[in-house]
Amino acid sequence: MSEPASSSVEQIVEKVWLSIAERRLRPGVQLKEEQIAAIFHVSRARVRRALTLLERDGLVTIIPNRGAFVCKPSVEEARDVFFVRRTVERCVVERLCAAVSKADVKRLRDHVAREREANAQDVTTDIIKLSGGFHLLLAELVGSDFLFTTMRDLIARSSLITAVYRNNTRFNCGPDEHAEIVDAVSAGDSTRAVQLMAHHLEHVEAALDLSDIRDLSHDLRAALT
Ligand SMILES: [Zn+2]
Repeated sequence: MSEPASSSVEQIVEKVWLSIAERRLRPGVQLKEEQIAAIFHVSRARVRRALTLLERDGLVTIIPNRGAFVCKPSVEEARDVFFVRRTVERCVVERLCAAVSKADVKRLRDHVAREREANAQDVTTDIIKLSGGFHLLLAELVGSDFLFTTMRDLIARSSLITAVYRNNTRFNCGPDEHAEIVDAVSAGDSTRAVQLMAHHLEHVEAALDLSDIRDLSHDLRAALT
């Protein structure tokens, strides 16, 4: 019998990321090094490197002498992430409209087509990856490393926030609104593209239950005494 193939750091990061996004790994869960090493047939050193990358993306908290845990973003952080996304993505869309090429439009349309396919077949992992990927692709096409890395961080945090606070089972970041944004970008219509993006992000945020109830429950004693 052949040895099971060991995974790379990137594969471990990807798998943990997806499990969080699919809500199979819940916030607060401890990610035990030894167990993860056994699951992926890798050394604990490699697991530590993966956990460090996940911590950088804001998905995992590492507490010295206690271990690594899936982050639980607060309602306040969730609101902040969407506030920053509105600002950054407005800038992304404006910059892209000013210099969009035919090849860019083709990549965007191909991406939306893949999203439609994933939605039609109801493949959750693909739906999550592709819907975040659309926003990342817009940033990539602008050609600014800084905007791209900023968006990468924001999308990772948004996925965790969506996993924790989503109030329905569907993902609101649908291909129809993305397709409308691509139409406006391809026409170089910056005003419309910015407007559509703002509405789109409002819809995504509205699909979350960001009432403060969950946070207040932790503070019951403080609230009652
Ligand atoms: Zn979207």
